[in-house]
Amino acid sequence: MSPVGATARWIAAARALETESETPLFVDPYARALAGEDGFALLDSMRRSMGPTAAGVGPDLYLSLRTKYLDDGLMAAVAERGISQVVILAAGMDTRAFRLSWPRDVVVYELDRDDVFDAKEAVLSQRGAEAPCARHVIRIDLAQEDWVARLLATGFDRTRPAAFLTEGLLMYLRPQDADRVVDAVTSIAADGSWIGMDVVNREMIESPFTAAYMKRLAELGAPWLFSMPDPEVYFARRAWLATVVSPGDPGANFGRWTFPTIPRSVPNLPRSYFIVATKGRVAELPGPTSTATAEHYAWGEGCDGWHLVRHDSLSVIQEEMPAGTTESRHRHARARQFFYVLSGTLTIEAEGAAHTLTAGSGLEVPPAIAHTAANHGSGPVRFLLVSQPPAQGDREPA
Ligand code: SAM
Repeated sequence: MSPVGATARWIAAARALETESETPLFVDPYARALAGEDGFALLDSMRRSMGPTAAGVGPDLYLSLRTKYLDDGLMAAVAERGISQVVILAAGMDTRAFRLSWPRDVVVYELDRDDVFDAKEAVLSQRGAEAPCARHVIRIDLAQEDWVARLLATGFDRTRPAAFLTEGLLMYLRPQDADRVVDAVTSIAADGSWIGMDVVNREMIESPFTAAYMKRLAELGAPWLFSMPDPEVYFARRAWLATVVSPGDPGANFGRWTFPTIPRSVPNLPRSYFIVATKGRVAELPGPTSTATAEHYAWGEGCDGWHLVRHDSLSVIQEEMPAGTTESRHRHARARQFFYVLSGTLTIEAEGAAHTLTAGSGLEVPPAIAHTAANHGSGPVRFLLVSQPPAQGDREPA
């Protein structure tokens, strides 16, 4: 098996360990056999490359979260969009066709190289595995051959939305090949199609923190070559609306990631991302929002806030402070903020200077400036607070 093909066995070994754990996030009954001894040896060797303390015997946290996140995303996309075509690029030892509960009409296309399918099909038939859906195996090199033509010739209908998965693939491709794969998916993805994947940023490949791991991958003949600095932008340019999370973020920790994640606004750190994206921007544009529908929180003495926009990169909050209330004085290390008054009177003290704002006026507060907002008026004050990046978790008393 090619060195990159062999990495599929490593991932299967990780799935076997998760399956055999006490409270598994998913169950892959074929994973142990598909991994074989080679898969477990590779898993162990990759763990050892991260240092003696990283080597362990339990499931691999990252790979377990990745599989579960993409399982859930894929099943939701199929159910919610009525998708009946699922294309798994670089399927490796992926057994989703067998282990997920598909609607009756789903067709799964699995693409990978010959050597991987030689090993995989032998194990599956030995075990009498039967997929509850139609399954087509397409033996092809995604970087060298016209896989789109083969997919179409096998029955894929480009006029209907489909779900695509490229899990654990793009990092192994040369950048031009990775772009070509995504562009080819884009060319056959009807509006409403869905894609799920994981990618890494440049620092993951180049940082001294990850050097030993990268060296081991290169020694194995499977170096990581492709990174994506800004997945939202990468996909937006190709008419996909992407949701990007880091493993451990809300929705991507499944109760397993017990330490805080570092916000994306902190630069120069190695990162991996889980991405799900939908083709066609308009269909996925958020609907209107208001204080009636937005997430509410209470703060201070009787003050209210509503998250009108809540993303990793931008926060827009509507706040309401009753008469006579004052927030505690603080500063933000990174967030730049803009207060804009909708009604009432807001007094902002910033580095000793007091500013009185009435409806239709606002004040920008740059990072590192100590400030406090107060309502010295006789009625409530309502205002918008725009922060970039979001100020949550970036606040120190001043
Ligand atoms: N997606 C599977 C999973 O998550 O278990 C397999 C991931 S494995 C890390 C990488 C897979 O990419 C291997 O199965 C390998 O054969 C496949 N792959 C890498 N380059 C490829 C190429 N040019 N054409 C086809 N498959 C490729």
